[in-house]
Amino acid sequence: MNLPDADGSITNLSNAALIVKNADCVPIVYVDKIAGYIGISHNGWRGSLKRLAPKMIQKMVSLGSKIEHITCALGPAIGLCCYEVDEDFYYEFMGEFEIYAKQIFQFRKGRWHVNLTLLNCLLLREAGVKKVNIDFFPFCTKCDQKRFFSRRRAKHEDFERMFNFIVKFK
Ligand SMILES: [Zn+2]
Repeated sequence: MNLPDADGSITNLSNAALIVKNADCVPIVYVDKIAGYIGISHNGWRGSLKRLAPKMIQKMVSLGSKIEHITCALGPAIGLCCYEVDEDFYYEFMGEFEIYAKQIFQFRKGRWHVNLTLLNCLLLREAGVKKVNIDFFPFCTKCDQKRFFSRRRAKHEDFERMFNFIVKFK
């Protein structure tokens, strides 16, 4: 059975793989071993702006998960070092995340840079996920060309992507 394409999926089916392909965007996997749910989401700038990660948490809780049982891992994504954004992006994000501005934005070489991984960690914390239950990779997909693909590094539309997946085995 194939689940419909979406930026976020949750299931309690065993032996079902939830997959996100990425190349700079932030992939997040979610697990609640007690309630038996797994989830995955693809958090680009649009999904982050729309608070997809907290929505995933809310959905898991509505399905019966307890917030303290949910653990999350954020996969490799573009780092603050390489994620330059324009003024429109900056102001749009400031409108939504001003309380995190000092943590997620840096002005370098005349351009705003944003830390999308940290923003998603903060959003998961805001949704109630325990700090000890959130793990993330400190790597940058654009800088680390030996290990990762990067849309921004590729500079063309048919860029290679990485697979992130989670499977629940019985
Ligand atoms: Zn970088």
